[in-house]
Amino acid sequence: MTAPDTPSDTTNSASSASTYAARAKLNLGLAVLGKRDDGFHDIDSLMVRLNLADTLTLTPTDAGIQLTVHGDTAAGVPSDASNLAHKAAQLYLDAADVAAGVAIDIHKKIPVAAGLGGGSADAAAVLHGLAELYPTGLDLFPLAMQLGSDVGFFVLDVPAARARGRGEMLERVYLPNLHFVLVNPGVAVSAKEAYKAVEAYSDELDVRGITAGLTSGQVPDFPNDLEPGIVRTYPQIAEVLAALADTDLQGVRMTGSGSTCFGIADDAAHAQKIVDALVEAYADWWVQAARSE
Ligand code: ATP
Repeated sequence: MTAPDTPSDTTNSASSASTYAARAKLNLGLAVLGKRDDGFHDIDSLMVRLNLADTLTLTPTDAGIQLTVHGDTAAGVPSDASNLAHKAAQLYLDAADVAAGVAIDIHKKIPVAAGLGGGSADAAAVLHGLAELYPTGLDLFPLAMQLGSDVGFFVLDVPAARARGRGEMLERVYLPNLHFVLVNPGVAVSAKEAYKAVEAYSDELDVRGITAGLTSGQVPDFPNDLEPGIVRTYPQIAEVLAALADTDLQGVRMTGSGSTCFGIADDAAHAQKIVDALVEAYADWWVQAARSE
């Protein structure tokens, strides 16, 4: 298992490039508690890191930031200064007062605008990578939270955590290994849109109940307050949820702001069996098995 902040020791030593896995996340429950004066929402969410990952290769350069983006899910991802990985590099080089630069290559595998935190994972991988390439002892967490509410989770670099506040109050959570089926119908949903569409606020998540249920093999119900509003806007997502509910997967929900939905399988073979059936029935959907990691 390669940690996201562990450079690969394989092919790149000649060019002094290092390779990082930027793993996706999903939300096993997301309660929206209310809107704050600063425009953010207070949330309570159980975030789980997945083995689904983008691959980032960082090569030190004399100056500037060069970015290339390619891969299965790269369509529509910017390769200019608006890319979150580029923003992360700029933020680190400025904050650490590093005069040198970096070339970043991103191989996208994580669906985009899909509730899987792909951009945030890439940004965190860049922060970790640059902290190794140009070590200064800088605390990465405040930089992460400047880049986005989910970047803090990825910089923390743990398999699962409860996230409160706007995502900055993170507490490690211990969960058993979980197997998922992920389904995305190919619609892009922005987090901004999802928070605007929230229909009702809730109380804190019962994280103790959720973790106890998962540990004893009984998948509890967990809410996602972003789901009802988004499902009303995108019937394709309602269709995905219905198809997942029609299987014997448990805990079927949308992750984060969507559009990806998931169900929990008994084990890897069970997940793969359902993936095969869904691929056969819905050729246009992105369907994949994943596990917590
Ligand atoms: P979150 O769950 O954190 O809201 P998400 O998974 O829903 O994230 P992303 O895949 O991070 O969404 O993409 C959100 C937007 O950010 C997209 O419109 C995309 O064009 C843009 N973006 C910027 N940088 C990246 C990146 N490195 N990878 C993917 N998308 C990026």
